[in-house]
Amino acid sequence: MRLSRHFLPVLKESPSDAQIVSHKLMLRAGLVRQTAAGIYAWLPLGQRVLRKIADIVREEQDRAGAIELLMPTLQSADLWRESGRYDAYGPEMLRITDRHDREMLYGPTNEEMITAIFRDSARSYRDLPRTLYHIQWKFRDEVRPRFGVMRGREFLMKDAYSFDLDEAGAHHSYHRMFFAYLNTFARMGLRAIPMQADTGPIGGDLSHEFIVLAPTGESEVFFDKQWEEPVSRYVVDYDDKDALMEGFYNMLAPYAATDEKRDLPKEQKIGGDLKQSRGIEVGHIFYFGEKYSKPMNLRVQGPDGSEVIPHMGSYGIGVSRLMGAIIEASHDDNGIIWPDAVAPYKVGIINMRIDDEACTAAADDLYARLQKAGVEVLYDDRDERGGAKFATMDLIGIPWQIVIGPKGIAKGVVELKRRKDGEKVELSIEDALAKVTEA
Ligand code: ATP
Ligand code: MG
Repeated sequence: MRLSRHFLPVLKESPSDAQIVSHKLMLRAGLVRQTAAGIYAWLPLGQRVLRKIADIVREEQDRAGAIELLMPTLQSADLWRESGRYDAYGPEMLRITDRHDREMLYGPTNEEMITAIFRDSARSYRDLPRTLYHIQWKFRDEVRPRFGVMRGREFLMKDAYSFDLDEAGAHHSYHRMFFAYLNTFARMGLRAIPMQADTGPIGGDLSHEFIVLAPTGESEVFFDKQWEEPVSRYVVDYDDKDALMEGFYNMLAPYAATDEKRDLPKEQKIGGDLKQSRGIEVGHIFYFGEKYSKPMNLRVQGPDGSEVIPHMGSYGIGVSRLMGAIIEASHDDNGIIWPDAVAPYKVGIINMRIDDEACTAAADDLYARLQKAGVEVLYDDRDERGGAKFATMDLIGIPWQIVIGPKGIAKGVVELKRRKDGEKVELSIEDALAKVTEA
């Protein structure tokens, strides 16, 4: 994409209404604009990153055996009366009346709807286990929407729901999601620590929150220092029930919880191996048994012909919140440093002198060849000073930047810069092309 034709409204100054760095940078880099309290429009660059985050989430859900569908944002109040949550949910729920005076709501979550959908067609034990998920907008009328997309009112969530014949099966489904989550966040360059959590308004008895450490995070957390060690992906066989369970318990051996009092060995004190910090909740998984299946009358026929009430779990990831969390974890004074996996473009080309024929010919040619190679490239061909172009590329966080200037071109070289560490090398155009294509 040529920057001269793009819609990429970057801001020079930090907006005064933004308190935390990710919110400031999201506004400055032209990723989002607020359209109402806690409601955001995703500008082209933000939309590209949001899609990449959602794609990673989707791939890891699919790999763990979950099946994608898409449920609507609007739901009927009657559905929520079946579980008893319509009255219980409180003012976070946006309630709407249609022209026929039917009570509707903008879904804050989808346990009721998925249970009803599953109930319609699941008949026997052969229809289980199943885990279904969607990536869909949610609305929660938060008292204090803040920190940009971090705590919005409308936000994008991946929510999955598992249906199993018994508790042991439901635990296997839970363990699948547990590892799928670790892999999802690792692919985005995040260290998300699974922490024992309160089961909250959804209720239940097995629950973990995935927390990215950040001083600006809303949750206070306690964890063993082992959790700070970086990790890569976990190679697991999602179908191997026993190995998965063993991996799960091994993984959770070092202490991590959102409340210090939870199961903390007595001898542990903050200061030694136990650390206290703040963190951002990017995901939350629950096992809650028959909490919805029972009142909503979901029944299937078991292998021996008897009626079985399926055990359920639900598994959320804050897809839009993740963008804020990634920026909190990866930025510097100049702007965002996108991990390659979610960057809006992999390569940026900076043409230092659009009035110089040789420069422009070289930059145009490189741009065409990168596009042909299928590399996502943003070409700064604007009539602007070099300094402004450098600042923009760094602000919007493009991982690889190729600078083309008249002096270099005269020698047959360009400069390749890595946004992450600022490392710069002079290379021939061919070598630069090969390097970024292979990376
Ligand atoms: P929180 O404690 O932050 O309000 P929650 O426990 O209400 O979160 P869940 O119902 O488990 O959240 O939702 C799943 C995920 O959706 C959360 O882990 C979080 O990443 C994301 N999420 C929840 N509320 C918001 C919000 N207001 N804005 C953006 N993302 C959110
Ligand atoms: Mg909440």
